[in-house]
Amino acid sequence: MIGIMGALEEEVELYLSELNETKKTKLTGFLFFSGKLSGKDVVVVKSGAGKVNASICAQILILNFKVSSIIFTGVAGALNPDLEIKDIVISKDSVQHDINAEELGFKKGQIPFSDLMVFNASDEMRKIAFSAADSFDLKVIEGRILTGDQFITDKKLSGSLRKEFKGDCVDMESAAVAHVCALNNVPHLIIRSISDKADHSASVDFNEFSKEASKNSFLLVKKLISSLKETKADTFDIKSKIRAVPDWPKKGIMFRDITTLLKDKGGFNQMIDLLVERYKGMEIDAVVGIEARGFITGAVLANRLGLGFVLIRKKGKLPAETVYEEYDLEYGKDKIEIHKDAIEKGDKVLIVDDLIATGGTALAACNLVKKLNGKIVEVSFIINLPDLNGKKKLEKAGFKTFSLVDFEGE
Ligand code: AMP
Repeated sequence: MIGIMGALEEEVELYLSELNETKKTKLTGFLFFSGKLSGKDVVVVKSGAGKVNASICAQILILNFKVSSIIFTGVAGALNPDLEIKDIVISKDSVQHDINAEELGFKKGQIPFSDLMVFNASDEMRKIAFSAADSFDLKVIEGRILTGDQFITDKKLSGSLRKEFKGDCVDMESAAVAHVCALNNVPHLIIRSISDKADHSASVDFNEFSKEASKNSFLLVKKLISSLKETKADTFDIKSKIRAVPDWPKKGIMFRDITTLLKDKGGFNQMIDLLVERYKGMEIDAVVGIEARGFITGAVLANRLGLGFVLIRKKGKLPAETVYEEYDLEYGKDKIEIHKDAIEKGDKVLIVDDLIATGGTALAACNLVKKLNGKIVEVSFIINLPDLNGKKKLEKAGFKTFSLVDFEGE
């Protein structure tokens, strides 16, 4: 289920006119319309203007309607001088420009007593929206949206907002919705069409163009929703719960940390459910996990499938007789091993790890299973880093692979 929000009547009326099988629910004074749009389950709400209204509606969408993502759609004032009325901004991120606790030692825009300031939109939704925009005869940019509880009509103020926060457009809701989504680990995307230039003519332009600009946002959101159908929408949640730690364990590495996914009971369950769903009908004799994070998902998955679990460990950790395999690391070499009696000849084996990067570790694990004459059904990961070509390496060696989420550009 996708949540769709707009602040104003003209921003949501087009969605309501195309919604099928509509059901109306009133909560905290807001009307929520659930139904089908482009064949997808959605809930549409008109939040009214301002950060409080938008925040309440976003939280209701998440808690009451259990939406897996939120799209905020509507119009905005341009800050970027390259933007003209009716152009579209897809959010890369957003900031609340009216938060100011500088006197307490925080940056402008920073939520006091927290690290929160810039709220990133979902990479995956952003990419889909941007490629959906290809077929539009409109200028579409990715950019930063600034939000505050003010309708900006002062050229000097819009100039200083642009300078200070590097914003591309300004509105009264987006970053508040993004803030709520960040606190709830729900992916979001903002799509704003330019209705005015946030200057002295803003109120006139807003009234004249907001209807037409809303239509542009609507057409793009509709296209985005129908494209989302073809993607693994149920993995949005999982992806958003994996933390990125830059420069760890060394400079230049973006470490994908699954501990944030594991500690989240909904996320952990959903991930295991998806893996169980994939493997439950297959002929498998044992699940093999690679040290250390492959033990966590591998063991739970084995148990849910009613199978035994086998450990592949770094050399020197297993007590009984082993076979080992050496493989290349970025600098130097490493060795992993398996107990000789862990796999019987001809056993059908599923190999599990948290992440595939270059594929060196997983290929070594495959070779170990082959040394014991096991048959590899598939090698399964939560995360794939496609740019490092690990999956291709395994597939070239003749092994089937599977992963739940991709992080591109790493
Ligand atoms: P590779 O052998 O290059 O495919 O590396 C895979 C192994 O290294 C897995 O066991 C991962 O847990 C770990 N790894 C490599 N790169 C990352 C990364 N960017 N984030 C998290 N873990 C990683």
